[in-house]
Amino acid sequence: MPYSKQHKTVLQAVMHEGALHEDRGKELVIRLFDHNNTAQILNEINAKLKPLCTTIKRINCEVTGELYWIFTSMVQDKTASFVSHFSQAELALLRNVYSEIITSNDSCVSSTFCLNLCSSLNAKLTKTDAELFLLEMANRQWLCCKEGKYYMGVRSIAELLQYFKDTYEGNLQICTLCKQELFYGDKCNQCNAITHVYCLKNYARNHSSLGCPNCPFSTSRQNLSSSNTSCAMDVEDASQTSMEIHEMTQSSQTRKLKRKRKNELM
Ligand SMILES: [Zn+2]
Ligand SMILES: [Zn+2]
Repeated sequence: MPYSKQHKTVLQAVMHEGALHEDRGKELVIRLFDHNNTAQILNEINAKLKPLCTTIKRINCEVTGELYWIFTSMVQDKTASFVSHFSQAELALLRNVYSEIITSNDSCVSSTFCLNLCSSLNAKLTKTDAELFLLEMANRQWLCCKEGKYYMGVRSIAELLQYFKDTYEGNLQICTLCKQELFYGDKCNQCNAITHVYCLKNYARNHSSLGCPNCPFSTSRQNLSSSNTSCAMDVEDASQTSMEIHEMTQSSQTRKLKRKRKNELM
């Protein structure tokens, strides 16, 4: 089907939202095209966008597993798209927040810590303004806020990956399954392999196994629901995350991602 006014409407919705939830994207496609083949529509839009070196990516949130459609440039430079969205002070805060998320042991940073960063910024930003800004960042999926903590948001991953690669070179983790950069995931107790929660979930579905994809211990895990510390528990937990995003579950506390702390911050 050729590119039409309806395609343009979908593209505009994605651009307007910054990150459009898959469910809302699907609703829109059904309403405009009378079918639910979202992959076909996205392919048609992306064919049109290709000469402009832009694209709509479908990306999972690492924390909630929810899928988003994100309009982004195919040639990412370090900061171009990033800078234009924010004021100097906001940018300074955001850089510090990213740095904390990437170098922390548990892939997140508390909102209190973020607000305390305000006093150390070169540019002036009040705590109230910072709080509003961070909430807005979470609403727009630049960050993911869960239980008073900020994680890397799906939009940052889609739009700023090159920036993170350039800035944190050896410090970014790679997912065992999809081999993509990972900011938050499940770590196997046995072999230390780190995997996106949503990748583990897909793997479990396709392999009828809920164990670690990287080590032999996975096959011996029979009991899917009673273990406290296995990957299996985390996979079960992942399926609930989107619904119980505000509830602290025990297994999410055990899901710690250890990583080396980088000394030099941005
Ligand atoms: Zn993955
Ligand atoms: Zn393992």
